[in-house]
Amino acid sequence: SGLVKHFPIKKGLLQRQSGAVQAVDGLDFDVRPGETLGVVGESGCGKSTMGRLITRLLEPTSGKIEFEGKDITHLNTAQMRPMRRDVQMIFQDPYSSLNPRHTVGAIVSAPFRLQGVTPEGGIKAEVQRLLALVGLNPEHYNRYPHEFSGGQRQRIGIARALALKPKLVVADEPVSALDVSIQAQVVNLLDDLQDELGLTYVIIAHDLSVIRHVSDRIAVMYLGKIVELADRKDLYERPMHPYTKALLSAVPVPDPRRRAKRERILLKGDVPSPISPPSGCRFHTRCWKATEVCKRQEPPLVSLATGHQVACHHPESVSDVRLPPRGPDQ
Ligand code: SF4
Ligand code: MG
Repeated sequence: SGLVKHFPIKKGLLQRQSGAVQAVDGLDFDVRPGETLGVVGESGCGKSTMGRLITRLLEPTSGKIEFEGKDITHLNTAQMRPMRRDVQMIFQDPYSSLNPRHTVGAIVSAPFRLQGVTPEGGIKAEVQRLLALVGLNPEHYNRYPHEFSGGQRQRIGIARALALKPKLVVADEPVSALDVSIQAQVVNLLDDLQDELGLTYVIIAHDLSVIRHVSDRIAVMYLGKIVELADRKDLYERPMHPYTKALLSAVPVPDPRRRAKRERILLKGDVPSPISPPSGCRFHTRCWKATEVCKRQEPPLVSLATGHQVACHHPESVSDVRLPPRGPDQ
């Protein structure tokens, strides 16, 4: 709750003023046991920073992180160790996240050795079990990462993340470095593993196509804020934030008849700098619905009766939902 991460920057050649990159600027959300929360947004929206904050790989500037009711915001490395088993991360790049000089066996067994709970004699069997679980040949534990394809390397990363039977897995763009043809296989693997192992996922993606089928709920981020959060179906069928509508309009539609019907919303301009984000609604510089109030007042993230949350002064499709009363100058 109230999660903030600012990266201070010093005055220098490229930067005229000292200040801070407001990577994450006040996030309130929860992740429910057994669900998949998809998190989408363009690069620079703070989604990776959010992932690193909730796994405690980064220290928040302010705010609070609770895991199973326990405040873990300020635990030190030693205090975090037992929790490390429960919370794991899968990284974007299966090429750089695996040490090229280590065998697959060494990579996947590292978590066991770090935690020191599995007897040495049992580790090889555990590694082989994990390789089989992610669809790799258990006999290949002596091979090196370069002997595997991109998709197989991401499977190795997944095996390593699952080694200690975590409860929560945060996957930061787990398939965006892979060939499109392989992406679905890896996403489906994650989905199967969730059922089998009762995992809870936070899956981070830069567009809505990859996480479409696996998310239970989806949070849309823009410049360090959550602008919309809803059940998957609700978000796809009744997007309320203009930014979500624009993201959805970019998702490829396989059926040509539906494709013809749907207008593509092209956003003007680039994402503004997170060093000095726009006043009011941070999306107002690119929003086709922006009015005066949008420039002056930041819209709060409002929760509707349906559980749908949206931060916008002029949300879409409000006919079937009731918004709380507005202030006099809105
Ligand atoms: Fe657009 Fe205004 Fe809504 Fe922001 S608050 S998304 S600028 S309509
Ligand atoms: Mg990222």
